[in-house]
Amino acid sequence: MKAEATSALPYLRARSLECLLLGVRALRRRRPRASTRPIFTVDGGGVALTVDDGPDPRWTPALLDVLARHQVTATFFLIGARAAEHPRLARRIAEAGHAVGNHSAHHPQPFAALDRVRLRAEIGRAQEQIAEAVGRAPRLFRAPGGGWSRTVLGVAADHGLTAVDWTVNPSDWKEPGVPHIVRVLSRGGPGHVLLTHDGGGDRSQTVAALDVVIPRLRSRGLRFVPVEG
Ligand SMILES: [Zn+2]
Repeated sequence: MKAEATSALPYLRARSLECLLLGVRALRRRRPRASTRPIFTVDGGGVALTVDDGPDPRWTPALLDVLARHQVTATFFLIGARAAEHPRLARRIAEAGHAVGNHSAHHPQPFAALDRVRLRAEIGRAQEQIAEAVGRAPRLFRAPGGGWSRTVLGVAADHGLTAVDWTVNPSDWKEPGVPHIVRVLSRGGPGHVLLTHDGGGDRSQTVAALDVVIPRLRSRGLRFVPVEG
């Protein structure tokens, strides 16, 4: 009896850990889609690839080529000042059928530390810059560095923007190597939002990793979808 109880202990520990994890996941899933919280999943069982920090004259075209080759529609969160600097590139993203979102005018960090006036200026200016470049105002917003706060979410909602977070983050901006980016993005599943970057540094690893990951996720029956605004 005693031996049985002892041997059951690791199992029970594992079970309680599993219950705890499932509980946390259930709580996260129960979050409503409201302007007071960023969304980090998409409906309909698809997977959403998101691309931040562009447009970049070198890496955005390379990324667009990979997406076109695999016929993937993604969501690009543009930095307003870069869209103003490279309007033709910003337009090319939209004309290729990708969703375009607002990623602030200048990408200041920590974003949540900015006061309401600065937040309004950053988000409002980027709306204008991106609208001017691509011909329509974004409906999606992602805070630089994922710097969310109640005020950030409020200002985004004031601009009619849906706040979009992420589920899977390979930290590709740190240039961790193609195998690492591939490994992390391969964890993507139904409803997940994947985070990648096409600006802010050398993005050759991101481009190479996506070329491998896209067919891999597709072979598991996943469908790539843009984030809906
Ligand atoms: Zn960013």
